[in-house]
Order: sequence, then C-alpha cells, then structure tokens
Amino acid sequence: MKVRFWGVRGSYPVPGPETNRYGGNTSCVEIRPEGGPRIIIDAGTGLRKLGKELMATTEFGAGHGSAHLLVSHTHWDHIQGLPFFAPLYQAGNRLHVYARQRDDTRLGALIAAQNESHYFSVPFEQVKAEVQFRELVEGEQFEIGPARISCARLNHPWIAIAYRIATDDAVVAYVTDTAPFRDILIEQEFIHQPPRPGDPLKPEDAAKLGAMRDGVVRLCEGADLVIYDTQFTPEEYASRPHWGHSCPEDAIEIAEAAGARTVALFHHAPERSDDQLDQVLTECRGKTKLEVIAAAESLEMELGRWR
Ligand SMILES: [Zn+2]
Ligand SMILES: [Zn+2]
Repeated sequence: MKVRFWGVRGSYPVPGPETNRYGGNTSCVEIRPEGGPRIIIDAGTGLRKLGKELMATTEFGAGHGSAHLLVSHTHWDHIQGLPFFAPLYQAGNRLHVYARQRDDTRLGALIAAQNESHYFSVPFEQVKAEVQFRELVEGEQFEIGPARISCARLNHPWIAIAYRIATDDAVVAYVTDTAPFRDILIEQEFIHQPPRPGDPLKPEDAAKLGAMRDGVVRLCEGADLVIYDTQFTPEEYASRPHWGHSCPEDAIEIAEAAGARTVALFHHAPERSDDQLDQVLTECRGKTKLEVIAAAESLEMELGRWR
C-alpha cells in the first residue's frame, strides 16, 4: 500500500515560513491499497489539495471516482477540508464516510452542519456526488475492497476512534486524537478542571482506561507504521491533560508494546515550528530502537507489496 500525508497539524491550520517543511494543514492521510479503492483518513484542511489532485489526475475528474473516508471524530481539524473537497461537486463520484456512532446525533447531520448557510455557501444536500454514511460501533471490523479495517476507542473529549488498515501484507494504525491512558478518563463532556498531578483515579475509571489502552495496543499490533497524536511535550501535557492529546513518549511506549516497526509523530502542535519539530524528533530517536519519523505534508511511504 501507499501512504501519503496531506495534513499533519493538530487544532488549526498554520501556513507560513515557520511551518513550510512539515506543513501547516490539518489532519488528512491517504492510503492506496494495490487494486483497491482509495481510503482517506480524516478530512482536515489537507483534504483540499488531495481533492484537487484527484480531479486533475484520476477518474474522479470524469465522475467515476469512489473513495472511503474514515473520520476519527468531528472536531474541526478533522472535517474542515470536506466542504472544499472538489470531487464532491462532480456528479457520479461516490464518497463513503465512516465515523463512530453517537447516541445524541447522526453522522450525516454532523457533517452537513458545517455546510449550513451561516458557515458555507453550498448546503451539503446540494453536493453532486453520492455520499453515504456508516456509523461504527467501537471495536467493529469491516472490509473496504481488499483492506481489513478495525477500530478502537480513544481518550478524547467527545470520543475519537483509531483505525487499523491491513492490506497488501502491511498494516497501518492511525491513532489520533488521544490522551495517554493513565491520569484522566475523558468521555462525552469536556472536563473543565483537570486533575492535579498525583490525584488518584477512581477504580472504575482506571479499569476503563486499562481496557482502552489494551484496545489501542491490539490495534497497533505488529503494525508497519503507527501514526500517533504527539501534539504535546511532557510539560504541555502536565498542564493540559484534559485536552486529550499525547506526547511522543506515549506513542513510543504504545508502539513498543505492540511490536510495531515505525512510529510517525503526527497532529503536530500548531505553535511548534519546523526547527522545534526537528529537535523533538532527534530527542525521540535517542529514546527507542523503533524507527521514528515526523509526518510531513507530501511524505509518501510504500509498505508491504508496494515496497
Ligand atoms: Zn485534532
Ligand atoms: Zn479532537
């Protein structure tokens, strides 16, 4: 399979000279299995450029394209590129959108909401492509062409899910957004008052976090590539554990426990400059025998049978 990064930032886009090398667009990763339909993970602002390329160079331009979009969760930095995804405005194209099922609202309504007239000029019902929604139950497994997909719950406000994509004798795990699984359990509500360092966890919360961590380790098991939320430094995490993001040390710990091969730092903090990211990467590489890379816009990797 081929893996290409189109957006690697967390929270909000940050174009400019300080972020040119790693890129300023928010989360979007393209997976191309050999002989299978395209899989896109998350629709941050990086999706816009992918859409332009699909229209210019593939069957999407003539309205014969089909892609599957796996959404980790519907925070802005994971869906904001969708209204600007050109293949949606070409009749005949098909987009299948997947995300975690919620009790309080439907996925189609959440996606359509950001196109309402207060925010955007074209209502979602007027896009020309055929769009289908599929809501996933945590732990669900399914297939997209030759690719086997599974998902696991993460520790993040309003709850995000991670995906494992196995195809062409290779495995990619996409794990964002999530806090580590030790200090705080984050569920449906935003927690306004974070725990103080050393505050004990309720036993039932500790049990839930333990189960969540086991699920994520299983999801990453033997992966060729683990793409992981590493927005925070340990100091930043200590003051904002309730925001639901991890540090590179957490990504490495999970990837090592899972026997993965390569871990990609991802969902970079918007305020982190390219030079600062270089420094974070160098420090990480001294802490593990795993291969560690920092995801960058336009980086393309070939795994499994493409290698
Ligand atoms: Zn995010
Ligand atoms: Zn989020």
